Amino acid sequence: MPEKKLETLISKEQLQKRIQELGELITQDYRGKDLTLLIILKGGFLFGADLCRAINLPAYIEFLGVSSYEDEEESTGVVQITQDLKYSIEGRDVLIVEDIVDTGRTMAYLLANLKTRKPRSIHACSLLNKESKRCVDGLELAYTGFEIDDHFVIGYGLDDKGLDRNLPYIGYYPS
Ligand code: 5GP
Repeated sequence: MPEKKLETLISKEQLQKRIQELGELITQDYRGKDLTLLIILKGGFLFGADLCRAINLPAYIEFLGVSSYEDEEESTGVVQITQDLKYSIEGRDVLIVEDIVDTGRTMAYLLANLKTRKPRSIHACSLLNKESKRCVDGLELAYTGFEIDDHFVIGYGLDDKGLDRNLPYIGYYPS
């Protein structure tokens, strides 16, 4: 059987243009606040690195390592924190920076968990959003890079069984 070819869904140029726009919006919204960008590992590492440089404000940069348990290729909402925060976020204006929101279970867990740590405000920014796959009610994303259809996407931080996070674009294998 011939090998499937990886199709580009979002090019490097489209990613960088949208990230600049998100950076400008966040700069306007967080002026005068105590911004902490909380980058979710591993998938958010490239998005977080580019987004923080598109924000023209002083910001704390923190990392939270999480691993979602999957059941038949869908997240169960059971999330393991593999690397916790080193500093308190109490009183800070926290913006969670995530690669993708699919069912929404992981983000719902993160928001609930982090709210118990008493930030002054907490919002979510996701590069990609699969709205059609949402399983949780009332999940609000303050910033979204791109709405995408139900593809399993890889690249720009997102992995394919641990590989391909370093692709500079978002791709998928057509079925
Ligand atoms: P959730 O379903 O809880 O919203 O998403 C859980 C996690 O599943 C995401 O943070 C991401 O790590 C992973 N995930 C969801 N959709 C995709 C996808 O299309 N590609 C990749 N590589 N990971 C995904």
